[in-house]
Amino acid sequence: MKRAAIVGAGIGGLTSALLLNRQGWDVTVYERGSRVGGRIGYEQEGEYRIDQGPTIVLLPEMLLGILEEAGVDRSKIELLRCDPLYRVHYHSGRVMTKMTSREEQTAEIERLFPGESRGFTRFMKDMDTLFPAGRAAFLERAFPRKRDFFTPSLMSLMGRLRAHKSVRKAVGDYFQHEELLDAYSLQSLYIGGSPFGTPGIYSLLPYAEHEYGIWMVKGGYAALPAILEQELTSRGGRVVLNSEVTGLTIKNGVCESIETAAGAENVDAVIYNGDFPIYQVCLDSHQR
Ligand SMILES: Cc1cc2nc3c(=O)[nH]c(=O)nc-3n(C[C@H](O)[C@H](O)[C@H](O)COP(=O)(O)OP(=O)(O)OC[C@H]3O[C@@H](n4cnc5c(N)ncnc54)[C@H](O)[C@@H]3O)c2cc1C
Repeated sequence: MKRAAIVGAGIGGLTSALLLNRQGWDVTVYERGSRVGGRIGYEQEGEYRIDQGPTIVLLPEMLLGILEEAGVDRSKIELLRCDPLYRVHYHSGRVMTKMTSREEQTAEIERLFPGESRGFTRFMKDMDTLFPAGRAAFLERAFPRKRDFFTPSLMSLMGRLRAHKSVRKAVGDYFQHEELLDAYSLQSLYIGGSPFGTPGIYSLLPYAEHEYGIWMVKGGYAALPAILEQELTSRGGRVVLNSEVTGLTIKNGVCESIETAAGAENVDAVIYNGDFPIYQVCLDSHQR
């Protein structure tokens, strides 16, 4: 059986481990921390658990679909829909409710920003075409080489998704009022990006909120890593906590072993989903 080492027990590492385990690999996940989850952190206060990192699920089908492919039954992850999506409280005292229903949202925008609802209708209509194209092109495929990404068709789609503008400027093609621009560009903050600097392609997010809803994991996002860890260990995979990977040996472009405090471990493949390595990576002469 081929052996894989996975560095990092965040959701990325755990999902990779489950996918490989399903393909028949013997997998071990090495995690430097004392628990799984990575950025999906939490605080425990008595019987309550409070998410420190991620809280909301966008595109629930994508999350459940990937986990299903990894062999995790959907019934193990209960998602709760937020209805309404959320409320935006402005300094001016206005409060705008974001909703899934296009009709109700149109009425809400018209009530607060007379004349602007036409822009919302146009935004949703344009995104009805651009979103599926963007999802298929950027979210559902890998780019192992630069030339897979820089193709004429993807560059053209980037243009249509206004990647050359900031998300704030991109939504300015639809809305006039500053507060509406806020409401339709704030979503770049979810990935830690300023609406004024993040590419316009992220205007896919406010569309996805309306179209697919905003969801929460029952038990908090922090419930998810524990479910994945349990699934992995029940299928024979291993998770080694408090075990930082401190070195990688790469020969002819292939990572052949990892280094931890327990020594070097030879493996057939390594998936590195930790932070950018600042420790020693041993390269052979071919790589230098
Ligand atoms: C405040 C905040 C809010 C967020 N909100 C949302 C949200 O609402 N919805 C959403 O979908 N996403 C949200 N995100 C993003 C989401 O948390 C991340 O995209 C996701 O958790 C990243 O998972 P990952 O497995 O790729 O990486 P990480 O979670 O960073 O996991 C990497 C793991 O690798 C370990 N590691 C690193 N280096 C080594 C090493 N050398 N050896 C061994 N182990 C190592 C780390 O300890 C860590 O456990 C938010 C993030 C933050 C910080």
